This record gives sequence, C-alpha cells and structure tokens, in this order.
Amino acid sequence: MAEFAVYPGSFDPFTNGHMDIVKKAARLFSRVYVLIGVNTEKKRAYDAEKMKAAIEAAIADEGISNCVVCVHTGLTAAFAEQNGIRYMVRGLRNNLDYNYEENIAEVNKLINPALETVYFRADHAAVSSSMVRELRLYGQDASNYVPAAVLACLNACEA
Ligand code: ADP
Repeated sequence: MAEFAVYPGSFDPFTNGHMDIVKKAARLFSRVYVLIGVNTEKKRAYDAEKMKAAIEAAIADEGISNCVVCVHTGLTAAFAEQNGIRYMVRGLRNNLDYNYEENIAEVNKLINPALETVYFRADHAAVSSSMVRELRLYGQDASNYVPAAVLACLNACEA
C-alpha cells in the first residue's frame, strides 16, 4: 500500500543532517512531503521560498524523485489530514531531541489521531541548523554541513 509521510521542520537552513533523514524516509515511503513550517511570530534567518528551491535542488542532486517540498503556515497535523498522510517523520540526535519530540508527538496525536510519528536515528548527530547559522555569522566555512545547493542559497541570501 502506498504510504505518504510528512517531514516537517524549520530547515533554517536545511542541513546534511536533514538530508540524511529525507533519504531514509524516501526509501521507506512512496512520497515524502518536506514541510517548511513558517511561524508568523518567529523570524527566519533564511527566506522560506528560497530555502524551498534550494531543498528541491539538493534532493534532485541526490537522485531522489519521490519528495515534494512545501512551505506551510499552520499545523502539520492539519496538513497531513488534508493530504492523506498517515506518518510524520522526525530525526533523533540524542535524548534531548527525544524528550522534545515526544511532547510534540503527543500533541499531534490529540489533534490528528490517525497521524503516527516515526523517528529515524541521525547519522550526522553533530549537525544542526543553529550551528550552521553560527558558523556563517562568523564567516566560517559551512560546506561540510549543508548540501551544495543550500550553500549557494546561503551565499545568495547573505549577499
Ligand atoms: P524544528 O524547528 O521543527 O525542530 P529543525 O529544522 O531544527 O526544525 O529540525 C527538523 C527535524 O529534523 C527535527 O525532527 C530534528 O530533530 C531533525 N534534525 C535536526 N538536525 C538533525 C540531524 N543532524 N540529523 C537528524 N535529524 C535532525
């Protein structure tokens, strides 16, 4: 049976750690929606539409063709319901991620009981969006931590 999954996040920016999770999810599910969640009260470092284009290019560079990238304002659980998605993918780097994710999963289950949260363990646990933002802030090389298309996006956004 064809199963769809949603992988939500801020992706501000999208990193090699996120790509690790996308690859794992794309192998298991027939379609993966990478959902850039936009919170109107939280200012982003990098423009969501530009990040969307960069993520699409990075995923294409990996030869993955069953992913759709969307920018979304609102609840992931509602997006899942509207698009016939039964699984929500999240990545786990450590026990801090686990505790945080479990709270979100519980709330999502209340909003949409048909939505099951699944975790993939991180193979790039040291990589985070905040670390990349920090490196960029101080003019350091971040090319080992983000896909090439995302690096080009960061350069364009900061120009
Ligand atoms: P959020 O604001 O929703 O936490 P992020 O963009 O920081 O958004 O992360 C999205 C998801 O990706 C979360 O499940 C997070 O735990 C996971 N993630 C972040 N960094 C990594 C990494 N290096 N490896 C695997 N998963 C990661």
